[in-house]
Amino acid sequence: MKLLEYEAKEMFVNHGIPVPDGVIITEAEEMALHLHKLGPEVVLKAQVDVGGRGKAGGILMAKSEEAIETAKQLFDATIKGVPVEKILVEERLPIEHEYYLSITIDRASKQYLILFAETGGVDIEQTASLRPDAVRKAVINPLLVDVPPFLLRRLIGKAPKEIAPVINRLYHVVCEKDALLAEINPLVTTPGGVFAADAKLIIDDNALARQGIHVNRDQTEREREAERHGFSYVELAGSIGVIGNGAGLTMATLDLIEHYQGNAANFLDVGGGAGRERVTHAVRLVAGMPDVQVIVVNLLGGITRCDEVAEGIVDAGISQKVIVRLAGTNEEVGRKILQDHGYMMLDTMEEAVRAAVEAVS
Ligand code: GDP
Ligand code: MN
Repeated sequence: MKLLEYEAKEMFVNHGIPVPDGVIITEAEEMALHLHKLGPEVVLKAQVDVGGRGKAGGILMAKSEEAIETAKQLFDATIKGVPVEKILVEERLPIEHEYYLSITIDRASKQYLILFAETGGVDIEQTASLRPDAVRKAVINPLLVDVPPFLLRRLIGKAPKEIAPVINRLYHVVCEKDALLAEINPLVTTPGGVFAADAKLIIDDNALARQGIHVNRDQTEREREAERHGFSYVELAGSIGVIGNGAGLTMATLDLIEHYQGNAANFLDVGGGAGRERVTHAVRLVAGMPDVQVIVVNLLGGITRCDEVAEGIVDAGISQKVIVRLAGTNEEVGRKILQDHGYMMLDTMEEAVRAAVEAVS
């Protein structure tokens, strides 16, 4: 999961990496409370999950007295189509030089890879392709608690020595936070020292529970319920509810709905070996979405037994139409149960999805 800049900066600060003074606001008027702390000029940074924010208009500079007006503009804007809900307002740093620093995982050598470039900033991709020698690299064995000093010296070259501890601390962040990527672009020097002017941190999704991070920031009540049941669940805008087992089959169902020009209301993967009660929970959950007119249940029976699934669907007793495609273990028993209760069971997912699209149009 990719953290937003201000979330990443919080983690950086906790590990001793200096970041500019700043506050997060959700309305332009909130700024009035904070401006006196931030100096005569501020930088307003849209907290949106898009790359190249600066070039897309997501970073604005303002004098203190114009800052509220500028914040209003930024809140009204979309950055590459993404609405701005939070703005990080920071003191404007007197930047002397911009460097690039990142740590990723080098899968080939199973080690961390540290990259440092003398010329960072918004054009780093260009620098990296035009002058590959400007980017220095070091791999580090993840069993090491610190980046060895000789590697730090090799990485920073003639850049100021104050950068060395920042590299080491970023390495600590990566190790402790189970990060797949940590990036500071730009890492800047100012008369007051070195600062992480920007921050990017991607946490390994498999480590979110251990890290105590909740994936969906603004969960709906239904999304929380789905999480309690252990479903992978995402709400979308359409009217065709979707329940599948396995992320691949569920995604393929969504793709087919799109293909037949329907609109899915959600993604719900019940997971492997779903029993009767689990299926009932899933069907009721999806049926509870206000726009759902019909539900496609597309399950492959392996460990999952089709008769259990069928019982689960019948138990749910929802008012919307349910179109079922079941294949595999105990398929015939499942089919009988569904037919006895007046449910439609089709043999292929194409047929099931077509029937659902027809049902709503
Ligand atoms: P990105 O486009 O999402 O990578 O946004 P950044 O946070 O990296 O900001 C883009 C650029 O804005 C940086 O490379 C800097 O040149 C500039 N910038 C950001 N913060 C400051 C600041 O405090 N002072 C100055 N002078 N420039 C800044
Ligand atoms: Mn940046």
